[in-house]
Amino acid sequence: MTDETMQGKNPDVPGVGLAQHYDVVIVGAGLVGSAMACALAADKKGESLRIAVVEAGGEPRTYQGVEFDPRVVALTHASQELLDSVGAWPLIQQHRACPYTDMEVWDAEGTGNIHFDCREVQQPCLGHIVENSVITKALLQRLEAYPQITLLRPARVKHILRPEAAGQIQILLEDSDQLPTNKLTASLLLAADGANSKVRELANMATREWSYGHDAIVTTVRTEEPHQFTAWQRFLPSGPLAFLPLQTETATCLDTHYSSIVWSVKSELGSDLMALSDDDFMRELGRAFEHRLGRVTEVAKRFTFPLRQRHAVDYIQDNIALLGDAAHTVHPLAGQGVNLGFLDVCAMRDEILRACQRELPLHDTSILKRYQRARKSHNLGMMGVMEGFKRLFGADHLQVRWLRNEGMRQLNSLPMLKNAVVKQAMGL
Ligand SMILES: Cc1cc2nc3c(=O)[nH]c(=O)nc-3n(C[C@H](O)[C@H](O)[C@H](O)COP(=O)(O)OP(=O)(O)OC[C@H]3O[C@@H](n4cnc5c(N)ncnc54)[C@H](O)[C@@H]3O)c2cc1C
Repeated sequence: MTDETMQGKNPDVPGVGLAQHYDVVIVGAGLVGSAMACALAADKKGESLRIAVVEAGGEPRTYQGVEFDPRVVALTHASQELLDSVGAWPLIQQHRACPYTDMEVWDAEGTGNIHFDCREVQQPCLGHIVENSVITKALLQRLEAYPQITLLRPARVKHILRPEAAGQIQILLEDSDQLPTNKLTASLLLAADGANSKVRELANMATREWSYGHDAIVTTVRTEEPHQFTAWQRFLPSGPLAFLPLQTETATCLDTHYSSIVWSVKSELGSDLMALSDDDFMRELGRAFEHRLGRVTEVAKRFTFPLRQRHAVDYIQDNIALLGDAAHTVHPLAGQGVNLGFLDVCAMRDEILRACQRELPLHDTSILKRYQRARKSHNLGMMGVMEGFKRLFGADHLQVRWLRNEGMRQLNSLPMLKNAVVKQAMGL
């Protein structure tokens, strides 16, 4: 923003030497970090910002045909709007995104079930299932088109220092042999470096966290019957099992028999399921899913993720803010993780653009505090709901089982309440 900034030198910070200065440094070019960079650059008010994005990993892999990224997310309409506003949504659709029109949720321990249908809320679909790599690739393609964004990759944040000069933070990188410098300074450092955030650790920002005692097994399967563009979720006593519909590229072949599964199970059972042969795993999976889509006929490589609830006590510190999984991780049972991260992005974008308009420095505490106020209570509320769901469906006490089955039946028969619930989940 200043002449010095534009020249990329920072003579005011002692000991920095040839540090490259940026208005905003974003650590992590995953879903949240790359969306954050694009969201700032896409707005006219953010055009003059100099932004660096530091990413430790390489290029995301491309999956094609009937090969799918094992990591997928269910995107809400609100997330789709953000991706559209930065020009990434058309690129995602060009590759592949599977709309789901219905959602079927049922309890293994009773007769309770809920069916959500997009037509009941006058929408063309309830959301989209998209592979993580498809979203990241689209965002990176957009990010590289903005001249004010510099992508530093592969480069890993090693240290952060607070120089004497107020209003700036210094960032030291490693693995940056290809880069012109391994030192950066920034007015604002945004940490989108995931659940085990290095920035959060270096800044000594505490978290409250505990293990759910669950592992999530994720993989892609093919079923005898087509998925019917429905997201299926069965609550078992050992944890929820989701079948999420996948789309192959329409140009090459249209096959609607593939689903991504997220099977959350108690950790001991998780190890047993991972040790099974493919044939035995498919049999167990089909049984756990009550063969709603017939037999499971193919399974790809399985991956497992330990599930932890994690919430940063504070999202902000001088010159630093946490976003996405760096600030919060939740159980994947309602598919809200990255959707919450994208809402963080929208809130932070609005605060930074407001500061640009009012010519406030980006590290101004009012900006950071407003961001924290907007996001922390909302994320906390969602985490409470997730925890409640997990406990409600994890309990095998007779009365609790009766209550939740009765609750599902009641909700299914009350269209107004059901529509309010579905609109909230869709981010409408
Ligand atoms: C099994 C499972 C299923 C899920 N399903 C859903 C779903 O249906 N819907 C949903 O909304 N969410 C879902 N989630 C959650 C969702 O995947 C995460 O919320 C989301 O990926 C977080 O994105 P992020 O960009 O914050 O972090 P990440 O995706 O973890 O990205 C962090 C980035 O930072 C980089 N990085 C890390 N350290 C450094 C460093 N020191 N220097 C530089 N770069 C660094 C990493 O390389 C990475 O690219 C699911 C999660 C799991 C585990």
